[in-house]
Amino acid sequence: MTTPLPIHFFDYTCDRCGAPVCERVQLMNLALNYEEELFCLDCLAAEQDMPAEALADFAKSYVYSRDCFKNPWMKFDATPCPKRTDGLCFCQDTAS
Ligand SMILES: [Zn+2]
Ligand SMILES: [Zn+2]
Repeated sequence: MTTPLPIHFFDYTCDRCGAPVCERVQLMNLALNYEEELFCLDCLAAEQDMPAEALADFAKSYVYSRDCFKNPWMKFDATPCPKRTDGLCFCQDTAS
């Protein structure tokens, strides 16, 4: 790991590319049935052959539909996500 982790927002790293992964993306992994490995959203999207944004929407709708995912999702405050400024954050709540 050469990339320094910005603040204490990302608790995990991607098993494939080493990118920092926040708890919400970890929940998306679980929602998509990735339990052995943990991927960042880009790697997950490549796995599923979907654009990252579509994959995030898909995973979120699943998370919202299950209390066991939704509760920890809501408990995690994604507001300080450093990726928001780059428009690369997929861990925010959907507006609707
Ligand atoms: Zn990755
Ligand atoms: Zn984010």
